Amino acid sequence: MDQIALVTGANRGLGLGVVKKLLQLGYTVILTSRDQVKGQEAIEELDIDKNKLYFQQLDVSSSESINRCFDWVNTKFGKLDVLVNNAGINYDTWQNAMNADLQECHKTMMVNLFGPWEMAQKFYPLMEKNGFGRIVNVSSGAGSLTNEEIGTPGYSISKAALNMLTIKLAGQAKGSGVLINAVSPGWVRTDMGGEDADRSIAEGAESIVWAVTIPDDGPHGGFFKDGKRLNW
Ligand code: NDP
Repeated sequence: MDQIALVTGANRGLGLGVVKKLLQLGYTVILTSRDQVKGQEAIEELDIDKNKLYFQQLDVSSSESINRCFDWVNTKFGKLDVLVNNAGINYDTWQNAMNADLQECHKTMMVNLFGPWEMAQKFYPLMEKNGFGRIVNVSSGAGSLTNEEIGTPGYSISKAALNMLTIKLAGQAKGSGVLINAVSPGWVRTDMGGEDADRSIAEGAESIVWAVTIPDDGPHGGFFKDGKRLNW
């Protein structure tokens, strides 16, 4: 049977780029979007063979939505091979820690940390059961503890926490056949990255897809960009 991959926040930006690459590699792909209409529009505009492409509405900040999506995947395929936790927000680009709007930071944590966390909790057992899986947490250099820039505190903290989540999940998943890593796509020209960013969506997506396609003896519990280790 084909390998089944689910990508969160895939109606635009890097998520959509990852969907395209995975389809090109022959994966069956579940493109998810928190907005039904936006997701379906993204699929209509995709200039690629869509035979192995499915759509599910998924808001990663909603347990109800995650449970509904899980039930659909479980009923339809009975397994999941790849989870790309890509959905993310960055409300606080122009803020710093002393003045950050904490309600916005809270929302950022809900999407960037608790979203991937709940997705992993829900879908990991489906992978473990098969003795195979790849979970890729799309992180950021902004989340590295070596990053001393004062901007984007909520975003940076959410990604640093996502990195620690990656370590914790990977520790538990050791020997299960499920490889869990955090990946930075680099600075990418998306709505979030802006037009001055130095990478195309295809280049950023490549860095993420690398962690999807690593072999069974590939790295586990690390933080990577373009397949090279980054400092936490
Ligand atoms: P975009 O802002 O272009 O796209 C973000 C995607 O996430 C959209 O599809 C958005 O949906 C979705 N999303 C937001 N909230 C939720 C939610 N609650 N549930 C499900 N989906 C949601 O961002 P990018 O493509 O640039 O970023 C993708 C990932 O890469 C993020 O995790 C980001 O932090 C990370 N990253 C990006 C970098 C860059 O330079 N672009 C650099 C480093 C990391 P909607 O359209 O409905 O808003």
